[in-house]
Amino acid sequence: MRALTKTAAGVGHLEILEAPRPVAGPGEALVRIGPSGLCGTDLLLYDGVYRGRKRPVPAPLIVGHEASGEVVEVGPGTHWPAAGTRVGIEAVTGCGQCYHCLRGNYNLCQDWHHLGLTRSGVLAEFVVVPTASLLPLPDEVTLESAAFLEPLATAVHSLERVRPAPGTSAAIVGPGPLGFLHLQVLLASGVGPIVMYGRPGDESRLALASALGAETFIGDRRDFAAHAADVTGGIGFGLAIESGGTSSAIQSALDIVAGRGTLVSLGIIPATEIDVLQVMRKELTWIGVVASVRRHFAEAIKLIQLGKVRPEALITHRLALGDALAGFEALRQRRAVKVMFTVTA
Ligand SMILES: [Zn+2]
Ligand SMILES: [Zn+2]
Repeated sequence: MRALTKTAAGVGHLEILEAPRPVAGPGEALVRIGPSGLCGTDLLLYDGVYRGRKRPVPAPLIVGHEASGEVVEVGPGTHWPAAGTRVGIEAVTGCGQCYHCLRGNYNLCQDWHHLGLTRSGVLAEFVVVPTASLLPLPDEVTLESAAFLEPLATAVHSLERVRPAPGTSAAIVGPGPLGFLHLQVLLASGVGPIVMYGRPGDESRLALASALGAETFIGDRRDFAAHAADVTGGIGFGLAIESGGTSSAIQSALDIVAGRGTLVSLGIIPATEIDVLQVMRKELTWIGVVASVRRHFAEAIKLIQLGKVRPEALITHRLALGDALAGFEALRQRRAVKVMFTVTA
């Protein structure tokens, strides 16, 4: 089968290679991959700057972790799901034995496996995963929308942690896919007004944000603070979502969140100096959110099924897997919101 493969550590080393079709063992399923999304984390891997947990990123590695598909067969002694079942695919599995795994928070397992980071990913024709990572899809949920389940589950996870009251004002710093999925889930939850902040170069992405119901603003850190003071009467936003993955994004979020407000950190940010004093002076609640667990996937499926979230609206590029590197460049240049690959074409 064809597979987008990181062949060695360091910058680059990403190519389409032939790989053997994997074989499902007991408790596993072979899935034919449908649409498969590109994530900012894949770009970090491509650039050789992704920092993993206890388990190193192996090489070679088939990358990608956002996909849906159809079950081809299950392993010996395994009876679910039936061949032909359309499924969403969870990216994370825990060790099952540590403190966090025993409490169901396997997204915090230091010994985790993650599709496309520690084990073969989904930018390929097939993948083998534990059947416990599969979620059957209702008829109303297309394979393309289900390819968003992994990042959408992270947004559901955020909302579970924050529990924002309807009418809370919110700012999203960083117009990437995770920011847009937060926008849709926050709007569905009665949060508003919502402002999405971007940098020069983000114009086309912010045009999409405004079509989806956000107010938008482009500038730098100082401009954001002035704009936020202006639109909130000097109070700041009750909720600030950092999804930019840069030190200036987290600093901006700290600048524009209100006293007693909540800040959510989602980006993978290099070690950085920020003005932490604001956490104390503003009596902030600062919530980190990483990945998701099964219940967040289940709720994400429901949000799509009910039409509360329409993730396909975020697709700016539909490409064949053979054009993978063009997709990476569109993401790097911030022309893309979501790049969706058709793996079998
Ligand atoms: Zn991702
Ligand atoms: Zn564990």
